[in-house]
Amino acid sequence: MPVNRLQELRTLLQQASHAYYVLDSPIMEDSVYDQLFRELLELEAIHPELITPDSPSQRVGGKPAAGFTSVTHSPPLYSLENAFDLEELAAWQGRWQRVLTPQVPFDYVAELKIDGISLALTYQEGLLVRAATRGDGVTGEDITANVRTIPSVPLRLLGPHPPGLLEVRGEAFLAWDRFHTLNRERQARGELPFANPRNATAGTLRQLDPQVVAQRQLDFFAYTLHGGPALEDLATQWQRLQQLGSWGFRVNPHTQVCRDLGAVQVYWDYWRTARRALPYLTDGVVVKLNQLDLQDQLGFTHRTPRWAIALKYPPDEAATVVEQILVQVGRTGAVTPVAQLTPVALAGTVVARATLHNADRVQELGLRVGDTVVVRKAGEVIPEIVRVVEQLRPQGPPWQFPTRCPLCGQPLVRTVQAAAIRCVNPHCPAIGQGQILHWASRAALNIQGLGEKRVAQLWEQGLVCSIVDLYDLTGEGLAALPGLGDKSAANLLAEIAASKQQPWPRVLYGLGIRHVGVTVAVLLAERFGAAESLLTASLEDLSAIPGIGPETAQSVWEWGQAPASQILLGELQNRGLTLANTPRAPITPPQPLQGKVLVITGTLEHLTRPQAQALIQAAGGRVVGSLSRRTDYLVVGSSPGSKLQAAEKLGVPQLSEASLRQLLGQSETGSDGR
Ligand code: AMP
Ligand code: ZN
Repeated sequence: MPVNRLQELRTLLQQASHAYYVLDSPIMEDSVYDQLFRELLELEAIHPELITPDSPSQRVGGKPAAGFTSVTHSPPLYSLENAFDLEELAAWQGRWQRVLTPQVPFDYVAELKIDGISLALTYQEGLLVRAATRGDGVTGEDITANVRTIPSVPLRLLGPHPPGLLEVRGEAFLAWDRFHTLNRERQARGELPFANPRNATAGTLRQLDPQVVAQRQLDFFAYTLHGGPALEDLATQWQRLQQLGSWGFRVNPHTQVCRDLGAVQVYWDYWRTARRALPYLTDGVVVKLNQLDLQDQLGFTHRTPRWAIALKYPPDEAATVVEQILVQVGRTGAVTPVAQLTPVALAGTVVARATLHNADRVQELGLRVGDTVVVRKAGEVIPEIVRVVEQLRPQGPPWQFPTRCPLCGQPLVRTVQAAAIRCVNPHCPAIGQGQILHWASRAALNIQGLGEKRVAQLWEQGLVCSIVDLYDLTGEGLAALPGLGDKSAANLLAEIAASKQQPWPRVLYGLGIRHVGVTVAVLLAERFGAAESLLTASLEDLSAIPGIGPETAQSVWEWGQAPASQILLGELQNRGLTLANTPRAPITPPQPLQGKVLVITGTLEHLTRPQAQALIQAAGGRVVGSLSRRTDYLVVGSSPGSKLQAAEKLGVPQLSEASLRQLLGQSETGSDGR
């Protein structure tokens, strides 16, 4: 009976995705999940009348909205009062204690303040029926289709729940790795990067196309609950959080009960440094009175609850001087201004450059060389200039954005969209060299020894003016390069030759087609196993690929239509590059990390995080964000975070990058990992 089978599949897939996204402890192999998911889709395609709103198939696939309707919040989504030090915290305690007489026993719950966007989720009889943004606190926007795509938001509450309406509130956010990937992809497309994960989250949730939201992989931590009399059994915030967890929500694991402000201080001090190792951005600690009856007695001011306060961390800021303002021309021709600074220590690193984003931003700051500026670093984001200290401003006119490309001298063009300024000269060396650098980059063909300086040299000597030329280089030709010894020349040639073995998705990414980031390249290579079929793909074929938006489809299609693309691929083919998926090895290789759970801390020297993650996955293991007793190994890179101490405490074995690579080397099929 398809009805039964459908119901079984749904329940099983719901449990599996809860185990994977919320508990970090998968109960089935990814391949099995995919297979069952496909079966569900097939059954639902035959019996569309049996599709239910909580089916795992309903997370993606919604149609783009024309706009959002507004939603009134009751009770409002309050803001939080801020404190910046313990004195202010003590003053807050004094204030609420004066309201409650006689003195009553109490304790606090300390929670990390996640820097994302707060959401209100409505469940009716256990089913997610609406999700809204905070808006101004009273009126928000209905973004249900977008929120459905967040894998850690249950579409149906797990387990028993009271009848009627329930409202769950919490924070939607983008983890650092997703944020960085997103920004890299945006920059590759010539778009402006998001300043921080909070902006990126807000921008993502306001997307009209849920498919785009799904790709970005937002996450959600639940932290409160409303629902009338049915919830009266819950006496404390702590119990609320437990309840949320048992309904399938992701609840932040670092939450702690604190018996007094002294304990809150210890928690705050600990997380002041430990937060840097978290996979998401936090900007403080939220302290809440644990007893819900006391919360009720205290109530709200017009703007904030009296029973909670945010104890914020001071932002990471420092003052320094602008020594020079430069512009960089990327491979898409986009021109970005960059300030060169007198080096200054900031949040554990030395900062010597700051992005100025775009011409508008420079103008807004009225920036000039010699200005004293305040720079800020939010987590790992590139530092940015927050403001100019006007009192210390030197004489002289503000810096002017150049009107001509610093590399080719052609006039720059201002594009209306994204406030970007571009060089549109197809022969511009910055663009040509940028394309070669992109081709050689780690996520693409990963050709070591082909950095900015070397590419510029090759270009100037007339040896390389396109990616194809790389494969025609000879030892004799390279001998002409100043400062390149025989050994380095031989290494470079070997690296270039080895890149011919790189798999098709990497080649596809390396081509630098607009809108084609690493993820899209993998999707395209999955659908089109060979270059020819991609060239002849119709716009409909491309648009039909789940996870590929209309803009991307259009861009890939246009690229395929261009005669230059066909010529380029022909030339790459002649030189022996891999332009098709290679058949899988008949026998599955041994999986040295089968079933192992790994956590990474610090910076790896030879692998980016996504690469390390992919390799570990390929070896049967899994990378998770936070450490627990279930962790099998902690991979330790340079400047490790607090996870290292935590691992020592928990007795989790450590792996250096070298030993990780050694382990992986056994199963590696030559894909990467130098
Ligand atoms: P603010 O925006 O600075 O007024 O701070 C209030 C916001 O902090 C709330 O609207 C939530 O979006 C956010 N927040 C993050 N984590 C928590 C948490 N654990 N408890 C309550 N609010 C939180
Ligand atoms: Zn140019």
